[in-house]
Amino acid sequence: MKLHTKIAVGLGAGALVGSLCNAFFGGEAWLIWVSDNVAYPVGQIFLRMLFMTVVPIVFTSIALGVAGIGDLKTLGRLGGRTFGYFALSTLIAALIGLTLVNTIRPGGGLSAETRDELMARFSSQGLAQSGPAEFGVSTFVNIVPRNPVQAAADMDMLALIFFSLIFGAALTLISKEKARPVIDVLDGIGEAVIKIIDMAMNLAPYGVFGLIFVITSQFGWGILTQLGMYVVVVILGLVLHATIGISALVKIFGKMNPVTFWRSVGAPFITAFSTSSSMATLPTSISTAEKELDVQPKIAGFVLPLGATMNMNGTSLFEGVTVLFLAQVFGVGLSLGSQAVVIVLAVLTAIGAAGVPGGSLPLMMLVMATVGVPPEGIAIVLGVDRILDMSRTTLNVCGDISASVYVDRIDREWEGLPPASPERQRLAVAAD
Ligand code: ASP
Repeated sequence: MKLHTKIAVGLGAGALVGSLCNAFFGGEAWLIWVSDNVAYPVGQIFLRMLFMTVVPIVFTSIALGVAGIGDLKTLGRLGGRTFGYFALSTLIAALIGLTLVNTIRPGGGLSAETRDELMARFSSQGLAQSGPAEFGVSTFVNIVPRNPVQAAADMDMLALIFFSLIFGAALTLISKEKARPVIDVLDGIGEAVIKIIDMAMNLAPYGVFGLIFVITSQFGWGILTQLGMYVVVVILGLVLHATIGISALVKIFGKMNPVTFWRSVGAPFITAFSTSSSMATLPTSISTAEKELDVQPKIAGFVLPLGATMNMNGTSLFEGVTVLFLAQVFGVGLSLGSQAVVIVLAVLTAIGAAGVPGGSLPLMMLVMATVGVPPEGIAIVLGVDRILDMSRTTLNVCGDISASVYVDRIDREWEGLPPASPERQRLAVAAD
């Protein structure tokens, strides 16, 4: 059986067994014990195996990517295209979300009692009380780390990326003899880390089973029905953005058949869905972009780590829908002007959000506070957030991969290389 088929089986089986356990034995002590002491650790070990590769892979792949691009002028051009694509796709996603939530108005149907009940049940979960995150000048200053080792230790991704970019650029500016051995070492580290990821992925079917079991055995699907319309709107938006938005971008900007694209992204798709983390999925996205879509390693190594941190299509769509949904629930009327503010902030906070489970929630509370929707209202949606997080992260990751397809296409044109050929690449990998 292929690995991603096994992972999908783990996912389905975990969800089924978890929901059945919840339906028949929900809340019983033994079930909680099994969830805490068996399923949870298995899931966490898998996640940690992936997370432990994130710092070395971000550093080596960005530094090598930048050094491989060669000169700062090309880097500037590719960087400009990359950020432009990120901004455009994130904006399209936010607009789709806002249009849907305004048309369907899922918040109109939630009664005041349900609202209060959900608030009471989930406001004890910490986040609702911790208050919105800060966002100001210091957010930008902090992108430049005082100490790159500390940035890595804190998993402060933007700061680590900044250092890696500068380091890679510096490698192109020093003499070839000095740069060569450093590049070779980084290359070796990068390959070894990829091996670790292969090992971790062999655990994935069990890890994924554990992660999903913990959620479904605790919440079951009951809560989904209370917030049904809202969940449907978010997921519908994500599906629309995938099938129309990203597909069109892949076709127009990447000049690739969207069917080929969607057929190739199975492994990162499932990994993102089961881990809810763009960061944890990064290693899988890099290898898929290279091995299935024929994206050049230097481009995959440059675009995907940036994308995992900064390009979150699903998150911006989700934020737009959620803020407006909660505004509807609380009866806060948002003018067109305020809605424009929501879009701009959804895009900005999607850039700032960390690619970890629930990474966008503190920032979304900030958006809510800015437009006058009570931030504690987030408690209402916390119960279903895991499902939505899984779904939006999947779109975040597919958006990143689509960006790498586009930037790769542009680079090949500039360099006079033949266009990417996923079919040829796959045959080569299979023959290997
Ligand atoms: N979990 C998302 C990601 O990793 C971030 C978020 O929206 O919470 O891409």
